[in-house]
Amino acid sequence: MALVVKKFGGTSVGSIERIKKVADHVARARAAGDDLVVVVSAMAGETNRLFGLAGELCEVPDARETDVLVATGEQVSAALLSIRLGAIGCPAVSLLAHQLPVRTDPHHGRARITGIECRRVHEALRDHRVVVIAGYQGMNERGDVTTLGRGASDLTAVAMAAALKASACEIFTDVDGVYTADPNICPHARKLKRISYDEMLEMAGLGAKVLQLRSVELARRFNVPLIVRSSFNEELEGTWVGHEDRTMENILVSGVTLDQNQSKLTIAGVEDRPGLAARIFGPIADAGIVVDMIIQNASADGRTDMTFTVGRPDLRRALEIVRALSDEIGARGVRHEEQVAKVSVVGIGMRSHAGVAAKMFKVLADERVNIEMIATSEIKVSVVVNSKYGELAMRALHDAFLGEEQNNAGPETL
Ligand code: ADP
Ligand code: ASP
Ligand code: MG
Repeated sequence: MALVVKKFGGTSVGSIERIKKVADHVARARAAGDDLVVVVSAMAGETNRLFGLAGELCEVPDARETDVLVATGEQVSAALLSIRLGAIGCPAVSLLAHQLPVRTDPHHGRARITGIECRRVHEALRDHRVVVIAGYQGMNERGDVTTLGRGASDLTAVAMAAALKASACEIFTDVDGVYTADPNICPHARKLKRISYDEMLEMAGLGAKVLQLRSVELARRFNVPLIVRSSFNEELEGTWVGHEDRTMENILVSGVTLDQNQSKLTIAGVEDRPGLAARIFGPIADAGIVVDMIIQNASADGRTDMTFTVGRPDLRRALEIVRALSDEIGARGVRHEEQVAKVSVVGIGMRSHAGVAAKMFKVLADERVNIEMIATSEIKVSVVVNSKYGELAMRALHDAFLGEEQNNAGPETL
């Protein structure tokens, strides 16, 4: 008998009808003999609705109280699913994060898990119950509710699977696997049969929200086999996320991603002397803002323009810091673009193949899309483009690297 963790996302539990379907699936799996721990998200749209309510009361709502509020979404769906499971003869018990507990650090809204106590889960399993856990939430040292960051029910699921040494963690969602690009944007996207943790990590970090970034990190660290599957059609084979195997290296590019949630800032006319970059990026890092791409352009008059990107939610705070600094260091001023698009191609095969960046630039040039910034790592090339052209760029790159005639992803796609 295996112990399996199954996670159902917002759309999968988005209505009473959907919850009934999930309960049927869980009851069938239970009847087949597996021990089950089910992690649920809030019903689709609920977390946004709750953030919206807080936003109507206050421009910057208190972080502790916001967590108390937004964590309720998962409480509702955990209780509803357990009620339905009981009603169809599959005994279940819901558990909230503080009842385990899922311990976290104190950072409201982006808390990190520091430990999970599994005693109550084991007791319930021994009692032949399905355990339904509210995802996304945790408890800090003071016993207060914390949340783990947007999309983090995936993280709860992987953390539970790691803590319980489950045989697999199944992520049920509204697509039937990980695709070569977001299938809702790219009509020619193809489903991958397998993807390595490293590639999935890059894709998640670059905007493919099918799996939350930290959940992939944790799965890799604790060797949790992950499978992404459709909650709408159980018959469909999903995508396995696991350690790299030899055949994967043959595939040049595994996926193309688009992140429309980036902002760009430029500090113009910074004096070109040692220490100024540290002066600028030190306070930004101290404020907990993650800077993504950076470019520095030296000009003939001994001054440079420093351009960098941050996640859009951090734009306002980054601007405040940078405007104050600009005056202090005698720069010529600050410009910003609230929404830019980052488009990336990802693939472990790039390690051993040259020319991906060159081909990428040619494809974008043919589409007349201007490249504003470029960043590369061992297994990805990213460019920033005007957000208007984000989807166009993504589709063009997808078809160039992964289109039917490329046959690049051949053996790995379904
Ligand atoms: P859930 O609510 O189940 O957690 P999410 O909305 O967080 O679901 O993630 C699923 C969505 O991820 C899909 O609807 C799809 O639009 C998006 N997505 C982005 N990139 C990809 C990709 N490469 N493959 C599959 N889905 C992707
Ligand atoms: N409900 C949370 C969110 O919308 C967590 C999740 O769905 O994974 O971000
Ligand atoms: Mg999600």
